[in-house]
Amino acid sequence: MAEIIVPEAISGPALDALKAEFDVLCDPSLWQDESALVLALVNAKAVIVRNQTRLSGELIREASQLKVIARAGAGLDNIDTAAAAEKNIVVTYAPRENSLAVAELALGFLLNLARDIPAAHADTQSGNWNRGQFVGSELSGKTLGLVGLGRIGQMVAKRANAFDMSLIAYDKFLPEDIPVIKELGVRLLEFDEVLQQADYVSCHVPLQEETYHLFSKYQFSQMKQGACFLNTSRGEVVDETALCDALISGHLRGAAVDVRETEPPEPGGLAALNNVIVTPHIGAFSQEAQLRVVETVCNDVRAVLLGKQPKSVFSRNS
Ligand code: NAD
Repeated sequence: MAEIIVPEAISGPALDALKAEFDVLCDPSLWQDESALVLALVNAKAVIVRNQTRLSGELIREASQLKVIARAGAGLDNIDTAAAAEKNIVVTYAPRENSLAVAELALGFLLNLARDIPAAHADTQSGNWNRGQFVGSELSGKTLGLVGLGRIGQMVAKRANAFDMSLIAYDKFLPEDIPVIKELGVRLLEFDEVLQQADYVSCHVPLQEETYHLFSKYQFSQMKQGACFLNTSRGEVVDETALCDALISGHLRGAAVDVRETEPPEPGGLAALNNVIVTPHIGAFSQEAQLRVVETVCNDVRAVLLGKQPKSVFSRNS
């Protein structure tokens, strides 16, 4: 029986080093088979997951030898951290290591929405030369509304400044007087005000009970006619049906989403609309970010198994 279970696609030099030292089971499809996962975890001391493996309270309680759960990424919404705490299982993660990759994807989305690059590309590749069909708009002078101004939101703001965008944000918990808000030139407003004033609204909140469907019919109705919506946070933060309706009616000009309510999603739906850009949850997937993420979590798993102090521990009180 392996000591470390890796039930998703995770690789890199840091994992190879772990394999040289411990008995590691890597099975990228194990997350899909809950009963096999339960069996694999019975005697395991560590499990390293991305966001696809659901580590429920029940599953955690059955894994009686488990010492550490490592999340190769930032969001912990797929792990019952309360159940882990009850069993004194350390939860480690990589909250900062992939932020830049996500922020850069959001900037890519902004440029693609402004100039309709995916549609122009597809049209040109099919043999056309329709210059007049693709008159876009500039980001300069437009207002970007950030919902959630944490690590990723701030990185997006910093980069959007280079495009001379005007920046507004809503963040329920960020103190208004922290210096970074002034440094970034962001105006903190109420949620509705951000929705009503922004040309582009970009979502960067974590998935929690309170943020489930934070963007629903009402919120989309509050957005400006012709505005665009971006989501690189979590799919369940958005009521996808309401987003589809807002796009089909033309109230929203476009949307770009990396994350979906169900992953992988059923064919059609949002992805079938021609004013939408969709990507398969690749926000964190830059080569550099993945190296950083895997190194951080593997080092922390190694530390826990050797009785040392891990560096990046999630605390439910933080
Ligand atoms: P963070 O914790 O640094 O920032 C989140 C911000 O949201 C915080 O400032 C917090 O105060 C704010 N917030 C929380 N609840 C809110 C609410 N109800 N209303 C308004 N603001 C609220 O997190 P981060 O590193 O910036 O990451 C944000 C999210 O991005 C993650 O939780 C994760 O879900 C997602 N993410 C996605 C990918 C991807 O592959 N697409 C990769 C990494 C992270």
